[in-house]
Amino acid sequence: MPILRDFFYNLSENQLLNSAAQKYGLRLGAQSVVAGTNIPEVIQSIKELNAQGISCTVDNLGEFVYEKSEATKAKEQILEVIEAIHENDVDAHISLKPSQLGLDIDYDFCYDNLDEIVGLAARYNMHINLDMENYARLQPSFDLLDQLSLKYDNVGTVIQAYFFNAKENIEKYKNYRLRIVKGAYKEPADVAYQDKHDIDLNFIDLIEYHLLHGKFTSIATHDHNVINHVKQFVKDHNIPNDKFEFQMLYGFRKEMQTELAKEGYNFCTYVPFGNDWYGYFMRRLAERPQNLNLVTKQVFTK
Ligand code: FAD
Repeated sequence: MPILRDFFYNLSENQLLNSAAQKYGLRLGAQSVVAGTNIPEVIQSIKELNAQGISCTVDNLGEFVYEKSEATKAKEQILEVIEAIHENDVDAHISLKPSQLGLDIDYDFCYDNLDEIVGLAARYNMHINLDMENYARLQPSFDLLDQLSLKYDNVGTVIQAYFFNAKENIEKYKNYRLRIVKGAYKEPADVAYQDKHDIDLNFIDLIEYHLLHGKFTSIATHDHNVINHVKQFVKDHNIPNDKFEFQMLYGFRKEMQTELAKEGYNFCTYVPFGNDWYGYFMRRLAERPQNLNLVTKQVFTK
């Protein structure tokens, strides 16, 4: 499996394949995990999930942004999504990647883009989550959060359990709404745990810490063992349901998503959409090569 994982990680970082993929719409089975390529399609998907008692966090897919014009385009699209969520009165907020808004080009330029986005969302009382990317972007992303927090309180971020410094960061940002995840990128051994067992232990530790001391916790995982542990933990510690939610990615473990919502837990689906689906899709295959089953099903049932 590690060979297959590396194979998909390498594919996810291939810019040539990424731009080729954009030209051809959703392919390779991506339509099972990406909710369309445009705003009307994603609004329709959100409505369907809302009807099942599930809220959504919407990701207008985009990466490999090295030109200011591309980052400006991404900002305009995200502003449009915020307007569409507001106009359609659906239960959804926004997840975005700082690199998509120009973090790799110029920090201040990225901040200005985010300032516009978080400012518009604040007017509609809508939350903005800064997704966390790879280690090189970790500190600059926290810097953006610090700077945005001087003006706004509708912004939060993600803590990745594979990083050695995750506990330090969760303590520092405990007064924020945080999503806690295991971590999706391939990181070196001097900054991140490599062993699945170590990552899982740290993941549980961080979740428990934020449930007890934090503002609001989004537990983002498809791991039933972690979910069952959390259910018992909140019961034992009398943590009310309005202090946390479970999150999963669109298209994954759909039955479990609806089941958790039916059981009365807050549930939020991460809904990616757009033409730039390639890197996102390859990382999902790298995390869990069995997801290829999803792909083959799509290819053969068309
Ligand atoms: P895994 O460790 O992949 O799986 C654990 C076990 O759960 C598996 O062995 C299997 O038994 C079961 N399982 C898992 N998936 C399935 C499935 N599809 N069907 C059946 N059983 C399954 N990462 C980042 O680095 N930055 C982010 O900002 C970020 N945001 C995220 C947002 C959301 C909503 C989610 C769900 C994930 C996000 N991630 C992010 C990805 C995350 O870091 C993990 O890489 C990813 O979720 C895989 O880990 P896992 O906890 O789901 O379980």
